[in-house]
Amino acid sequence: MKIPLVDLKSQYLSIKKEIDEAIQKVLNQTAFIKGDFVEDFEQKYCQKYGVRHCIGVGNGTDALYISLKILGIKPGDEVITVANSWISSSETIIQAGATPVFVDIEPDYFTINPEEIKKRITSNTKVIMPVHLYGQSANMVKLKEICDRHNLFLIEDCAQAHFAEFKKQKVGTFGDLGTFSFFPGKNLGAYGDAGAIITNNDDLAEKVRMFANHGSLKKNEHRTEGVNSRLDGIQAAILKLKLKYIDSWTEERINNSKIYNDFLENIKEIELPKVRPNTKHVFHLYVIRAKNRDNLKNFLEDKGISTAIHYPCILPLLQIYQDLGYSKEEFLVSHKYQKEILSLPMYPELTKNQIKYIAEQIREFYCHFNKK
Ligand SMILES: *Cc1c(COP(=O)(O)O)cnc(C)c1O
Repeated sequence: MKIPLVDLKSQYLSIKKEIDEAIQKVLNQTAFIKGDFVEDFEQKYCQKYGVRHCIGVGNGTDALYISLKILGIKPGDEVITVANSWISSSETIIQAGATPVFVDIEPDYFTINPEEIKKRITSNTKVIMPVHLYGQSANMVKLKEICDRHNLFLIEDCAQAHFAEFKKQKVGTFGDLGTFSFFPGKNLGAYGDAGAIITNNDDLAEKVRMFANHGSLKKNEHRTEGVNSRLDGIQAAILKLKLKYIDSWTEERINNSKIYNDFLENIKEIELPKVRPNTKHVFHLYVIRAKNRDNLKNFLEDKGISTAIHYPCILPLLQIYQDLGYSKEEFLVSHKYQKEILSLPMYPELTKNQIKYIAEQIREFYCHFNKK
């Protein structure tokens, strides 16, 4: 059996006719950049999130960068983010001219640890930028509390957490701005690069729209400089169509996580992912912690099962951030976990039989491993 980490093909084939028609419609109208298809998607996304504004942008990294820029983040400012994340978390802070301040994760949920944030706040702190990692909400009550008390902005990175919830409220609607990636492999994926920002703040929404389009709301009127980061018509049409299915795809991911939990029960060498109480974890990734992780990964690869590591090196310990002077002792949890975490195949179309096979191979590996 061959099982990929994500299977974009089977999802495309399941809605091929509709997708092909949607793309053809954009071609017929040559509405390639912005235009009706983009507005249509933005409106639908607003509705589904119950927010006032959604602005399509080029990708999820741009969504973070644009958010920082329109909040006025500048050199000398500090932005607090999480140690275990994709590089977008730190590179956008640095590109905005500010300094990233990394914080360790909570041991149970892989998300930013609010207690650790408190120790890192200074008079220069301007923003907290948590990541709802793997599809799991960060602790939004505590993060809101900290932001309110210290008068900080909150930017939620929802790139891995479309329609995840914390106490029945969707993530991305707690902060000043919520950012999304629609990279093809994300829970809601385009067929190329795409992203969006949501907000209930009219003033911030206008600034985002302007900054993402060369500082312009009207052709040839530039109130500031900005960037060129726009959602295109083909991606918008695909995303709007996929919104019809996202709820059932999310349910299938959650269901697959439960099937994994059942089949992987009582293997003492692995730790299964925990779901924070009163939240909806949307399982962008199903991440276990495993003894002898690298050998397990190779063993599974030999059995046709693709896995990945999100992420092999925490951000503060990357070579490129050496000059920031962080040490591993400051990140006891995330540093320990980087050698243990393993992302197993996860997508809506994954079958019970495939999960059973994956679980059997993991059991088989530890049987051998224990005899040696
Ligand atoms: C994917 C991802 C991004 C970046 O999104 P792109 O669309 O690839 O630019 C940012 N943050 C996190 C946590 C991600 O997983």
